[in-house]
Amino acid sequence: MARIGFIGLGNMGLPMAQNLLKAGHQVEGVDVNPATVEKLIAAGGVGVETAKTAAARADVVITMLPAGQQVREVYLGSSGVILNANPGTLLIDCSTIDVESAREVAAEAEKHGLMMLDAPVSGGVGGASAGTLTFMVGGSTQAFVRAESILQNMGKTIVHAGGAGTGQAAKICNNMILGISMIAVSEAFVLAEQLGLEHQKLFDIAAKSSGQCWAMTSYCPVPGPVPTSPANRDYQAGFTAAMMLKDLKLAREAARVAGAKTELGAAAANIYSRYVASGAARRDFSGIIGFIRG
Ligand code: NAD
Repeated sequence: MARIGFIGLGNMGLPMAQNLLKAGHQVEGVDVNPATVEKLIAAGGVGVETAKTAAARADVVITMLPAGQQVREVYLGSSGVILNANPGTLLIDCSTIDVESAREVAAEAEKHGLMMLDAPVSGGVGGASAGTLTFMVGGSTQAFVRAESILQNMGKTIVHAGGAGTGQAAKICNNMILGISMIAVSEAFVLAEQLGLEHQKLFDIAAKSSGQCWAMTSYCPVPGPVPTSPANRDYQAGFTAAMMLKDLKLAREAARVAGAKTELGAAAANIYSRYVASGAARRDFSGIIGFIRG
């Protein structure tokens, strides 16, 4: 069993760390918010003051932080994980961040002889609690093979996407598809309303036709056809509009840097940005249908 330093014990990180404890690992947690460290201690973990201390004691360091800025802060610099980890420590960043930061931090780790993976997740807080997350992993095959058994304690599907940064690339490309397709499905249902076509009828037909997609058949933005979708509970968040906007902005920035033409991705970012500005940041992202309806 490994001694794991876990940095960032928020909505996702805490249940992930708890699953590592259940699997028998020793988990030493760090968070700028002491209340969440207390919850880890209550679950059988150890609280550690700083990322520097956690790094110096760990075989594996896992981070689950808000964005690229915090990932840079935690890994880089004299108090950072990279300069304070022992040789052979495996570093795994599970946060969703920009591809450039992921590659820069991984290159810095490599320069100091450490293996690092970017391993963002999908599956949300429910998947983190149930241990059923999907991990999209970027980095060397050697590091991936070492990480796999640990990631399996927190997830069900673990995919090696390629070299450093490709885990983040997979995550933002997937979520760009999701953001665009949720808007497409929402526009279709709103148009159907105007044309006198019932929601259930459109669902029954499109779910079996070429318009079929996950946003419709697993997460339908109107109440009724998919009983588990947030539309049936007044769009209480499974995945918030703010998170979708974050990922669409990451995709837009990655496309700008790479010179890729992603016009619908940019349009989706624009529409979600206006939805969030209307006060809907914490609503589920499928609530965009109400915004489209006007
Ligand atoms: P969160 O804000 O609940 O958790 C982040 C934690 O990091 C907080 O507890 C915060 O106090 C801590 N933190 C911030 N800066 C720190 C620092 N310098 N040192 C130590 N701790 C620090 O966020 P979350 O919902 O757990 O999401 C974490 C990451 O997972 C994000 O990158 C997010 O995009 C991604 N993600 C979230 C979901 C979801 O449904 N919540 C789904 C997939 C991916």
